[in-house]
Amino acid sequence: MDFASYIRDIEDFPKPGVNFKDITPLLNNPEALNKACDVLCGFASHMHVDKVVGVDSRGFIFAPLIASRIGAGFVPVRKSGKLPYTTISESYELEYGSETLEIHTDAIRKGEKVLVHDDVLATGGTASAVCKLVEKLGGEVVQCNFLIELTFLNGAKKLNGYQIEALLQY
Ligand code: IMP
Repeated sequence: MDFASYIRDIEDFPKPGVNFKDITPLLNNPEALNKACDVLCGFASHMHVDKVVGVDSRGFIFAPLIASRIGAGFVPVRKSGKLPYTTISESYELEYGSETLEIHTDAIRKGEKVLVHDDVLATGGTASAVCKLVEKLGGEVVQCNFLIELTFLNGAKKLNGYQIEALLQY
């Protein structure tokens, strides 16, 4: 399937100079949605996964679908102040300012195998912070799994040592 034909480029969103990859046309098409999920799950078919971590907010779309299909639990990582129970946090630098992500302290047990999913890998700051949160809880990141990797932003460098899979690369 030509997944790229379901990804829409939005120029200057959310700010001037950014070419935003909009995945909503893919989500909107039943066949593309289902087949994209097949491929994302296929990336992990050879490994045992206890938990799938999805990143606030577009990571929440596929992560629970993947988790449900591969027999794993789903864990949300959220921006600060959104999770109700006890959390640990990790901050990282953005182009302007910084971002803090949080995870529930009981979401992952020591030794659990964890697949990290987000919609887009750009500079890698987000995914790398998520991997740190998982590891602080004693989990082992077995794969970082994305719909889209923007290879020209070199996010894979920041995720050095982790297995990276993506449905589409630009
Ligand atoms: P990074 O931390 O620079 O790798 O940025 C990844 C985060 O930014 C992910 O959570 C994405 O949802 C979001 N992101 C960055 N670029 C895009 C894009 O073109 N489309 C959709 N989300 C994006």
